[in-house]
Amino acid sequence: MARIVQKFGGSSVANAERIFRVAKIITDAYAKGNEMCVVLSAQGDTTDDLIAKAEEINPNASKREMDMLLACGEQMSIALMAMAIEKLGYPVVSLCGWQVGMNTSSTHSFARIKKVTCERVKEELDKKRIVLVAGFQGVDKYGDVTTLGRGGSDTTAVAMAIALQADLCQIFTDVDGVYDRDPRRYPEARRFGRLSYEAMLALIEGGAQVLHDRSVLLAREHGLTIEVLSAFTGAPGTLVG
Ligand code: ADP
Ligand code: ASP
Ligand code: MG
Repeated sequence: MARIVQKFGGSSVANAERIFRVAKIITDAYAKGNEMCVVLSAQGDTTDDLIAKAEEINPNASKREMDMLLACGEQMSIALMAMAIEKLGYPVVSLCGWQVGMNTSSTHSFARIKKVTCERVKEELDKKRIVLVAGFQGVDKYGDVTTLGRGGSDTTAVAMAIALQADLCQIFTDVDGVYDRDPRRYPEARRFGRLSYEAMLALIEGGAQVLHDRSVLLAREHGLTIEVLSAFTGAPGTLVG
């Protein structure tokens, strides 16, 4: 039995069919006897759509209210995924950032994780439930909702893996690993089987958005290996670290 943290990005949960595909990945791992804590992003373009909605109302909205709005995307994903997993007949619970003790600074729209208590997550894992965690969001010392910056769900996953002392941290996305350049733009791009934190950070600095920079910095600080793999192919991915 292993304790596994998985994260699925927005394209992996973009519609009902994809939600069920991911639900199957999660429940297959659970059925093998593993403890599963799964971080989800907002579906597809939801975050961009929410930003557009805000701009329609007030282009100068405060960052606090923007965080309040954008956090809804991830909350939708975890609730919908929980419903799919319920339908497959497995025990599951979805939790927001504040419920998992994702404590952050008050820098709205770019908050830093300060501490992850995750008591509730441990309790739920002890009850043999699959735990779904809303990515990208946290709570500050005033009890206000914060967000971690675009792409921040990767950092949520790494923070959860560290706090839970997970055996595996798997970041599922729409490509089958990390390449030397964007494989969508360059068909000749070459995939890494493994690469160092430094090499990954250099790629990110060069514009590779496949991982949130802070997720790699956090993983490096704690010596956590991240596996980046496809939510669609089942092929082995890239190990970072
Ligand atoms: P998610 O929604 O799963 O978080 P992202 O869109 O944030 O996914 O990251 C995955 C995307 O990163 C891929 O679709 C790919 O086009 C892009 N990408 C850019 N550079 C790289 C690279 N060097 N290796 C892999 N993917 C890359
Ligand atoms: N939903 C957020 C974004 O689109 C966070 C994430 O996907 O990681 O940036
Ligand atoms: Mg991303």
